[in-house]
Amino acid sequence: MSDSDRSVLVTGAGSGMGEATARRFAATGANVLVVDLDEEGAAATVGAIEADGGTARSHVADVSDPAAVEGMIDRAAEAFGGLDVLHNNAGVPQESTPVEDVTEETWDATVDVNLKSAFLGAKYAVPELRESDAGVILNTASTAAIRPRTGLSAYVASKAGMVGLTKQLAYELADDGIRVNAICPVATDTPMLQDFAAGDLSVESMHDTIPLGRLCEPEDVAGAAVFLASEDASMITGTALEVDGGRDI
Ligand code: ADP
Repeated sequence: MSDSDRSVLVTGAGSGMGEATARRFAATGANVLVVDLDEEGAAATVGAIEADGGTARSHVADVSDPAAVEGMIDRAAEAFGGLDVLHNNAGVPQESTPVEDVTEETWDATVDVNLKSAFLGAKYAVPELRESDAGVILNTASTAAIRPRTGLSAYVASKAGMVGLTKQLAYELADDGIRVNAICPVATDTPMLQDFAAGDLSVESMHDTIPLGRLCEPEDVAGAAVFLASEDASMITGTALEVDGGRDI
């Protein structure tokens, strides 16, 4: 299959990296299911794709809810005649907190949205992806998965888990022709970054710690996602691609 005309589902596509990625996939000719908890955000992304001449539908789902995840996979398959690419991208930040003060509720909520969602996505998508000529799963992790920072125990564990799950699924699903890769962005200029900025560093000081001299932009993540899902990446599976400008904060 060529990279156009594919059925692509991106979660967290109502904002930030997910929005940019959904738009970039649509620009390649893919049909995109834009999934988000935020109905308005999802609708706005679909509006932007359609204004550019692309094809997309919006779908509201909480990616930590098993029934909702099963429902979003069914919706993509029904709308676009199957599923070729699942991008588990929706995520939540964690307020920087010493581990002894992290509540179980914070731990569970962070891990459920950032990690369990990718397990659920794979669980329900694999039967559809197996039917594709070139099934792909992408998981948005973080450089924090590899280089931890102050007060982010739940976030870092969720993202490190995302890398581990990626490698396991790449191994497990290779026989089915399904490739699985993670993307590890450095501090990315999205609404979520403001939540981290109160922790170790201000947004301004983050620029100075990245050798290329700027934050990651949502489009940088979108470019990595479209590449990893493309035929050009057909020998790449189980990798965690760092999109970090040369070094982490
Ligand atoms: P980033 O792009 O850096 O991840 P954003 O906050 O811009 O940060 O985007 C994250 C997106 O994920 C938001 O649109 C948000 O509504 C979405 N999201 C957060 N939690 C969930 C969830 N449980 N289910 C679906 N989407 C979610």
